[in-house]
Amino acid sequence: MALVSSLELINKAREQKKAIAAFNIHNLETIQAVVEGAYELNSPVIIQTTPGTLKHAGIESVAAIVKALAGMYDIPIALHMDHCPSFDTIVRCIKNGYTSVMIDGAVLDYDENVKLVKSVVKMAHAVGVQVEGEIGRIGGVEDDMFVNDTDAAFTVPAEAKKFVDDTGIDTLAVAIGTAHGMYKGEPKLDFDRIKEIDSLINIPLVLHGASGVPDESVRKSIALGMAKVNIATELKNPMAVVIREVLSNPDENDPRNYMGAAKKAVKEVVMNKIRLCGTVDFADEF
Ligand SMILES: [Zn+2]
Repeated sequence: MALVSSLELINKAREQKKAIAAFNIHNLETIQAVVEGAYELNSPVIIQTTPGTLKHAGIESVAAIVKALAGMYDIPIALHMDHCPSFDTIVRCIKNGYTSVMIDGAVLDYDENVKLVKSVVKMAHAVGVQVEGEIGRIGGVEDDMFVNDTDAAFTVPAEAKKFVDDTGIDTLAVAIGTAHGMYKGEPKLDFDRIKEIDSLINIPLVLHGASGVPDESVRKSIALGMAKVNIATELKNPMAVVIREVLSNPDENDPRNYMGAAKKAVKEVVMNKIRLCGTVDFADEF
């Protein structure tokens, strides 16, 4: 089918205390792994790109591959732009068929951030595209983005409410103890904070930095209102491990072999995360 609205998927998931898994992809094989994994479980899925991935693969190429695969598989698939600081890049994404975008103005002060987010919301809503925003600061490393421990800041519930009211965003990424990248120790999620934010605002919450968070904590977050769960690092690691393993044979030079093996490993993680988010067979409801 054609690409669908992320918000429609997320809203319906939220009603049923489920979450839509959103996977950061990097190339043809990772897109295939996500789509094929979701299809096998009959689950809706969000495919997302960071600015770094677009630099690597090109907006046009990524969007064309995702649209082609969406046309081949009968499950709802949304295409989302993750952590984008640029209004112009978001316009290009939307022109290429993205169905939702995240505008990230975290480096700006509050008023400038609101101004940027509002301008994206106005433009995107005019063409039926939804917008994710972030308040508080999720720490860690993703792409060129690095937020150290001193700059990382938990989302303050009252600020979250004000930010949602001021900007008109559709979904909100919150900082509640997760971080981008892999964790050294076990991450401690602030569940009371999720509960409080969810009670104050009436839009779905997004869990960033879910890679390496214990399944039980992800489940609990979903039960408390997280309706989109982002997975990036946890796809990268098995891919690298498998490629290293296949290429340890010095005679191996066929990309179809090492990338094929990588795809299989990524697909397995995708399927586990979809099960964790509770959306097996959820595609039937769309
Ligand atoms: Zn993120």
